[in-house]
Amino acid sequence: MAKKTLDRLDMKGKRVLLRVDFNVPLDDDLAITDDRRIRMALPTIRCATDAGARVILMSHLGRPNGKVDPKLSLKPATVRLGQLLECDIGFTPDCVGPEAEKAAADLADGQMLLLENLRFHGGEEKNGRDFAQALRNLADLYVNDAFGTAHRKHASTYGVPSLMPQGTRAMGFLIERELRFLGSALENAKHPFVAVLGGVKVSDKIGVIENLLGRVDRLLIGGAMAYVFMAARGENTGKSKVEREAEKHGKKRDIIAEAARLLKTIETSAAEVCFPVDHLTGKEFSTDTETDIQGPEMEDNWIGLDIGPETTELYREKLADAETVIWNGPMGVFEMTPFAGGTREICEVLARVAKQGTVVVGGGDTAAAVEKFGLAEQMTHISTGGGASLEFIEGKPFETIELIDDV
Ligand code: AMP
Repeated sequence: MAKKTLDRLDMKGKRVLLRVDFNVPLDDDLAITDDRRIRMALPTIRCATDAGARVILMSHLGRPNGKVDPKLSLKPATVRLGQLLECDIGFTPDCVGPEAEKAAADLADGQMLLLENLRFHGGEEKNGRDFAQALRNLADLYVNDAFGTAHRKHASTYGVPSLMPQGTRAMGFLIERELRFLGSALENAKHPFVAVLGGVKVSDKIGVIENLLGRVDRLLIGGAMAYVFMAARGENTGKSKVEREAEKHGKKRDIIAEAARLLKTIETSAAEVCFPVDHLTGKEFSTDTETDIQGPEMEDNWIGLDIGPETTELYREKLADAETVIWNGPMGVFEMTPFAGGTREICEVLARVAKQGTVVVGGGDTAAAVEKFGLAEQMTHISTGGGASLEFIEGKPFETIELIDDV
């Protein structure tokens, strides 16, 4: 069932609690180094203010773990938003309590304010009922436009909308766009459908691979993720980074054993799964280290830092006729120029694929890589949510989105 976007709410004169993602990077002087997240929220904010809503913006910033941390204040975001919208924006130094209540009550139609960092209260991440109720009391309507936290049941994403009646809850345009692109890439994918997975954390992506195996025609694996599968096969990975263990909810996970089980599933799956046939290795984890091309196994004391040239060629072929591609995770340590080649080549192929087909890029580092190579504009869609996009691809339902009213 399609979910309601905010333009379907009658917002005139109403106080609208709008959950945005202003989790922007700050430097030591608390200056915003990248304001993309704020700019991306503007269409939703403008839609509300143009409709005469009294907008109460709320967001988290960083991980203050329930304590006030002046370095993680949203004040700089308020200033930046004011510059972008060329208007005054109110700010309350606590997101709940008498001052926030008064500021919300005093708003005129079309005015807005930003509440201080939600995570200064432990109740945000714990989805505390009292905290959610205090936020809920600030407003008549609720809009969620923070895709990056949509997979988390926090007070601002889950508690608040649970306390609000039917007919008052909508999503913003950013979430709507994410659901549309990620959803249609998965559900209505044109074939050949190829997934490219890399990066360093396999624990995050085991469920993703399992879900994708039944959907894609080809799955290309790169990055340090590939070394976990090599280790599971008993192959030499030298001194490479291999995620052997992970912890979730206090429970230890044996990632090598999980990868070994996944390899069995892969054997019987209809999808063609490709692993690197060679690697660009280095003696040290540094830019000016001695390098070598090795494969399929690595030699003792060498570190795998990128896919090798044969692998790059193979993956280029496997992507050439793709109609739909999902890409999450770089092919190597793209942050270091000598090891950026594999990721850049894949990125360039995908820019060509996106001319006729659909290419959806997810994950913070992958988005940063695409940005770095100047190819972001060429992709069909770059997801704003790293963990959220992975959980979506994994097929996990988002309870926060289920709470939004149906159209
Ligand atoms: P993830 O968060 O799992 O998507 O991982 C992204 C990170 O993986 C990037 O910062 C890359 O530098 C890193 N990465 C990719 N390949 C390798 C590798 N072979 N060795 C170490 N780190 C890698």
